[in-house]
Amino acid sequence: DVTAVFDLPDEAATQCLGAELAQALQPGLVIYLEGDLGAGKTTLARAMIRALGYSGPVKSPTYALVEVYVVSSLYLYHFDFYRFESPEEFLDAGFGEYFNDASVCLVEWPDKAAGCVPAPDLRILLRHAGGARVAELAAISERGASCVRTTAS
Ligand code: ADP
Ligand code: MG
Repeated sequence: DVTAVFDLPDEAATQCLGAELAQALQPGLVIYLEGDLGAGKTTLARAMIRALGYSGPVKSPTYALVEVYVVSSLYLYHFDFYRFESPEEFLDAGFGEYFNDASVCLVEWPDKAAGCVPAPDLRILLRHAGGARVAELAAISERGASCVRTTAS
């Protein structure tokens, strides 16, 4: 298994990890962002999107469910399924078509769409560690593995 663990002592460290991950993004990649409320999922996604060169506001998709960015020749979709009451809402919303070979999908709260949201290439688990955070990257596919290798090197 290709995994990597990063200590993130402060928000700047989370932003650095996001910038590293941004370098490793390629079309077709699906990344799950897992962890409790406040663990830093949106902060990490925002850092990735900013590092790609997007200069506008990067909002949490908690209410809109998805925010779309076209940046650095990528279609990037940032989802947050926290508010789903059942996984089928994923299908009802027609989100399946967003997951294709041309797009990068970052998914917060994927478990709320379990069985409906496509499998990830990479899982990123963020955990509180006192006032700091820890990020655990776990590759699920070969594409995810190359993403972890690029980020960890
Ligand atoms: P989530 O999307 O997981 O609910 P957010 O990214 O919205 O979490 O919020 C994370 C909070 O934690 C923000 O207030 C952010 O400033 C802070 N934070 C992010 N990374 C770190 C870190 N490495 N250490 C301490 N605080 C952090
Ligand atoms: Mg969030």
